[in-house]
Amino acid sequence: MAFSDDIVRQAFERANEQCECNRRTHSHFRTPCGKPLVWKNRGVSAQGGWEAHHYSTSGGDTLANCEILCATCYKSVG
Ligand SMILES: [Zn+2]
Ligand SMILES: [Zn+2]
Repeated sequence: MAFSDDIVRQAFERANEQCECNRRTHSHFRTPCGKPLVWKNRGVSAQGGWEAHHYSTSGGDTLANCEILCATCYKSVG
């Protein structure tokens, strides 16, 4: 299961080039993470690195199920 490049690009634009994570178990805690991301750094674990994550494993490869996460959050959600 993988998102198409088109879906990922739309999700990245929706996220305003920021991490969309708002999990309370993470270090950003009460507020959305909002870490600034760099488009060309997908899959990179350096600053500005990010990855597209499925909100729900059964939700399919749709835009609504695509969450843009910084490298730190992506590692934390597994
Ligand atoms: Zn994050
Ligand atoms: Zn997070």
